[in-house]
Amino acid sequence: MSFPSLGLSAPLLRALEEAGYASPTPIQAQAIPLALEGRDLLGIAQTGTGKTAAFALPLLQRLAATPGRPPRGGCRALVLSPTRELASQIADGFKTYGRHLGLSVVTVFGGVPHRPQVRALERGADIVVATPGRLLDHLNGRTLRLDAVRVLVLDEADRMLDQGFLPDIRRLVPALPKDRQTLFFSATMPREIERLAADLLRDPARVEV
Ligand code: AMP
Repeated sequence: MSFPSLGLSAPLLRALEEAGYASPTPIQAQAIPLALEGRDLLGIAQTGTGKTAAFALPLLQRLAATPGRPPRGGCRALVLSPTRELASQIADGFKTYGRHLGLSVVTVFGGVPHRPQVRALERGADIVVATPGRLLDHLNGRTLRLDAVRVLVLDEADRMLDQGFLPDIRRLVPALPKDRQTLFFSATMPREIERLAADLLRDPARVEV
């Protein structure tokens, strides 16, 4: 299996080569072709399996192929993460893989001042990577709108449950368009996570490593 055979575009292949990635990991080989087709995904995978690239690469390719700027105060893709550390790592991944695409990435998490995040969001962003609590603050404060989101990613959904973020996630879902692609990743599938996945995903393909 090779990255070109998964259907990835030249700018992404070049970034992967520069990052020193020789071939896709099993979750990448399974998830990327399905996500590129626009399918919703339920991915059961632990950290360290390469799942960040499994959702970031198809997301970047589909955004780059869809013309249009994000609206002011809005974004075209939203990635939810349970912790600020993971959110930063995911944002770094988007910047590394997307370095030849020119898409903007803004990170939004708690424990830091609101103002710089508000200023970054005002301009609009192609991709926002966020923890659910601070994201909901921005939504309630009208410094963020989610009506232009084409792709939603939930990463480490079971850890979001552990962090007590499920009520926040349920509160922000009504602000998202129903017509979107959703990529949902979790290492384990406790009952609440099964239920959340069933509520968010439409006819998902299941990939498991
Ligand atoms: P993740 O599971 O997404 O946290 O990725 C774990 C680590 O594997 C990260 O440091 C990635 O940069 C690296 N990685 C992801 N995919 C590949 C790949 N196909 N080849 C080599 N390294 C990779």
